[in-house]
Amino acid sequence: MDNLMLEIINDKQISKDDALTLFNLDIENLLFMSSKIRRKYKGNNVKVCSIINAKSGQCGQDCKFCAQSSFNKTNVKVYPLLDNNKIKEASYKALENVGCFGIVSSGNSLNNQEIERLCQMFKEHTKVSQLGVSIGKIPDKTFIKLKNSGITKIHHNLETSENFYPNICSTHSYQERIETLKKAKKYGFKICCGGLFGIGESLKDRVDLAFTLKEIRSDSVPMNFFMPIKGTALQHLPALKPLEILKTIAIFRIILKTPDIMVCGGREMHLRDLQSWIFQAGANGMMTGGYLTTNGRDIIADRQMIKDLDMQLETE
Ligand code: SF4
Repeated sequence: MDNLMLEIINDKQISKDDALTLFNLDIENLLFMSSKIRRKYKGNNVKVCSIINAKSGQCGQDCKFCAQSSFNKTNVKVYPLLDNNKIKEASYKALENVGCFGIVSSGNSLNNQEIERLCQMFKEHTKVSQLGVSIGKIPDKTFIKLKNSGITKIHHNLETSENFYPNICSTHSYQERIETLKKAKKYGFKICCGGLFGIGESLKDRVDLAFTLKEIRSDSVPMNFFMPIKGTALQHLPALKPLEILKTIAIFRIILKTPDIMVCGGREMHLRDLQSWIFQAGANGMMTGGYLTTNGRDIIADRQMIKDLDMQLETE
């Protein structure tokens, strides 16, 4: 382990096998290394983003973790794509406090009419460079429309490793998701792609996902920690422990090195008093103000946490 620690501190790329052994390392040594790497590439800055669930529920996909899948029987709100004014208003309000605002829709993709409507709004938006879209599968013509409307960021999670993916979704493939991400890169978008942990995957699946994210050059990596929602197929799974979450973040920083690592869903529920440790673990950002179908903490408490850590909040 001593040699491996020396390699990590000297910023060498580690193998998948070595990455797996890091889960056995004590938390102090692991976080000492991951925080050094975070400081080297990200300084003392913190990125904060928020999202709007712009179209909710009744999704025809069978993602076993998702409250919005029609295969799961949950009490999630169901509504069609929100009015442009509502989305615009929410985005301007959020962007007073956060650097990036994501517009997220349920379903495998949006139809032409929905895309046209959103693109019209993007063209008129004075902060379009700070918006991102998470709208599922995107055909070439939509990528071009999004590009022409000023959008620069596409969010599309891989969720887990290719090997484990069939256990959580059977209605679309991992390769389809990779294709969407590759196309986004080809059209010059920044990609925001990460995963969901605590859905029954192994530690090896987590390491495999980190290496895939490195290979596809994800610019920003959201890390979500599964919150068991009543009525979903995975509702029975045990919650992840705080130190296991911190170790997973640290190992992602050690493998990925340069991208933004954003801690998103499950932060408040699973980390509780250890929320501020995410930066020591290697994250340089987080989502604030709630998630797609669950509540989170507001920006005031998160701002205070950043201030208490003597870190700087990036608002653009
Ligand atoms: S994760 Fe997305 S695609 Fe899967 S069920 Fe939920 S809304 Fe549908």
